[in-house]
This record gives sequence, structure tokens and C-alpha cells, in this order.
Amino acid sequence: MVDSQFLAAMAGGLKPALVAVRRDIHAHPELSLQEERTSRLVADRLAGLGLDEVRHGVGGFGVVAVLKGGQPGPVVAWRADMDAVPIDDGLQTPYRSRVPGVKHCCGHDAHTAIGLGIAEILARVRKDLPGTVKFIFQPAEEPALGARAMIAAGVLRDPHPEVIFACHAFPLPAGQCGLGPGTNLPPLDDVRVVLRDARGISTPRRRQEARERCAAAVRGLSDVRLPDSIEAFDELLAAVIRGDARLIKAIEIGFSPQVAGMGGGDCDLVGVARAADPAGRAALPGRVRALLDQVLGGTGLDYELQWQQVVPATANDPILTAEVTPAAEAAVGPGNLIPFRAPLPVGSEDFAVFQQELPGVLFWLGVANRDAGIPAMLHTPTFDIDEESLVVGCRLGAGVILDYCRRHRPV
Ligand SMILES: [Zn+2]
Repeated sequence: MVDSQFLAAMAGGLKPALVAVRRDIHAHPELSLQEERTSRLVADRLAGLGLDEVRHGVGGFGVVAVLKGGQPGPVVAWRADMDAVPIDDGLQTPYRSRVPGVKHCCGHDAHTAIGLGIAEILARVRKDLPGTVKFIFQPAEEPALGARAMIAAGVLRDPHPEVIFACHAFPLPAGQCGLGPGTNLPPLDDVRVVLRDARGISTPRRRQEARERCAAAVRGLSDVRLPDSIEAFDELLAAVIRGDARLIKAIEIGFSPQVAGMGGGDCDLVGVARAADPAGRAALPGRVRALLDQVLGGTGLDYELQWQQVVPATANDPILTAEVTPAAEAAVGPGNLIPFRAPLPVGSEDFAVFQQELPGVLFWLGVANRDAGIPAMLHTPTFDIDEESLVVGCRLGAGVILDYCRRHRPV
């Protein structure tokens, strides 16, 4: 009988292999669109598991594998991402990054290891699996390009999955998992301002002053402070768990005037905006215009505002979230499934692009262990994970997939 205890035992037995593969990937991180070695490692491992189909080169360095269970049932997808971040490794671990300036500090090494672990577990119990599982290993999550590229390359066809799952490393304690219905991360908008000097009366100094004043004024629209310390993160997490109304309505917008004229091409200000609440988001360009009108009034400068969505909201399908909750709780144990009731105002995930195509759920997998000196703050040079979380992630993924397949098999 394949139950949660059986899966837990299997995932536990895989721990040495999971740790080895995660450390291998961690030591050899590859930036977005350059995941050649990682994707080869993934494709080789999947081929060794005897899956029914392994394809690589799907939408760049994407890899997709299909596992057909021994009984009829639905098609379910699990997605993992593989790219690293342009940050120096600030830790002296045995598995330290061997690539200067590049580190897996968003946990994608762990996501990849977990995806392989789930594939191994489900391959071993395939005769008891009612359905088909598609494993999607995507490149280029950080610039939000990989999901779109893989979808354009047909990753959701032949066979077409009816639901998709993924997990992302999160600074909760290892052993816990955050899960919430609806918007988990707001959409990410790219915002640019081009200043125009129609009358030719401005000087470079005045123009720079105008940029700085515009940036400061627009920043004032933000009503959420991004966590810059562990204490601030704890406060934010508590607000997410209790469903703080301010987070549901939160707006975060910022320009980087130092980027002006450098990374932004011809733009004077380049920034990003996040607002989870659709009405708040719709009103935001108008509020920015009002501020720019005010700041630039009398300076002789005019402006053009460019506003473009880069990543949609990461939003868990509410029905599917409710449906998978018991299996997720069984996988992590009572009390370890932490309900998220408000969106996180930080970050984006291009899993959102898959969620626009089909119902999907993203699990926030706890990877921290503060007693062991692992606060696991994402995108920091000292990021690391408690590797027990690899086992938890496999238990969770295999448990949720198997449970979904069983409940949706033909009667
Ligand atoms: Zn990430």
C-alpha cells in the first residue's frame, strides 16, 4: 500500500542521493539561459529512471519527461526551475559555488533535486500510479523567460496536463510548508519614464535633479516596506499568515535613478511596480502621472510614462488548493502546513505563466534552520538550505501528485 508513510520512508532513503545532486548543482551554478550542464545532468538522471519519454532542448535548455503510471488516470505536471543568480557565494561550504559571481541563492538547485526525487519515487511505484506525470524542468526563471519559452515549444501538449504543481524554497523552518489560495505574489510591472526637454532649456544637472525628485516622489506611493532584516521578515510573515488587509491592498513601487541612462536605454527612470489588488493596480499609473506632473511642473521638462506587465500574478487556483490541502498536510505532518492568507509583497515567480494556462498550485517549502545558522533569506550571498527540506519536498510532491491522480481516476 502506497500511503504517506510509505512515501516518507522512500523519500528518507533518497536523502543521500538528493543531497549529492543538490550539492553538485550548487557547486556548478549556471545563469539564466546558460543552464547547459544542469539540464544535461537532469536529462541523464531522468533517462536512468526509465521514464517513458525524456526530451531536452525544449524552449532553450528546458527538459521534459513523462512517466506513465500502470493504471488509467489524469495527466499531472510538476515544474522545477534550474537557473542561478548573479551573486557571489558568501559561504565557505564544501559545496561552495565554483563560479565567481554566480550562486544558487534562490533555491533552484533544491527545486531541481526535488523534481528528480519525485520522479524517482513515482517511477518506483508506477504500477500503483493511476495517471501520467509530466516533469518540467525549466530554464530562465529569474528573467521570467523560461516558462513562456517552454510553453511556446509545446511543453503543455502531448499529453496536456490538467493541473500543475511546483514548490519554491522559503525562509520557513525546514519541515514546514506555506500554502495559500489565490494571489500569492502580485504581478510585476516594468515602469519607465522618459523625460523630454521640448524647449531645450534644461541642463544635465537639472535633469538629474528632476530624476531624483521623481524617483523620491514615486517611492512615496509604496505602502509596504521590503524586509531588510530577519526581524522585518518575521513581521511580514506574521502579517501574511493572519491575512493582514494592508498586504492585500499593498503597493510597492520604486525607481532606481542610478540606473537612469545606464541599464534603461534611453530612459531616465527605470523601476518596477507590484500591486496584488486589481483595483489598486489599475489606479497606479494615474497616481504616478499625478506625481510626475507635480514634480516636473515649472521645470520645462515633460515626460512619457511606459508601463508593461512582465510577470502575471502568481495565483493558486482556489479549488485545487483546497483539494490538495489534506495530502499536503499528510506529507508534512500536522501543524506543519502553514496557511498563507495574504499575498507576499516581494518577488515574482514565472510559474505564474503556467498558472495562466492551467490550474496550478505553488507550495512554499520551508528550508531554514535558524538554530543551525541557516536563516535562508532568498537572494542573499549567505543563502543556504537545511537539506532535510529536500526530503520534505519529495514527500510533498509525490504525496500530492499520487493523491490527485487517485481522486481523478476513471471510476
Ligand atoms: Zn526562485
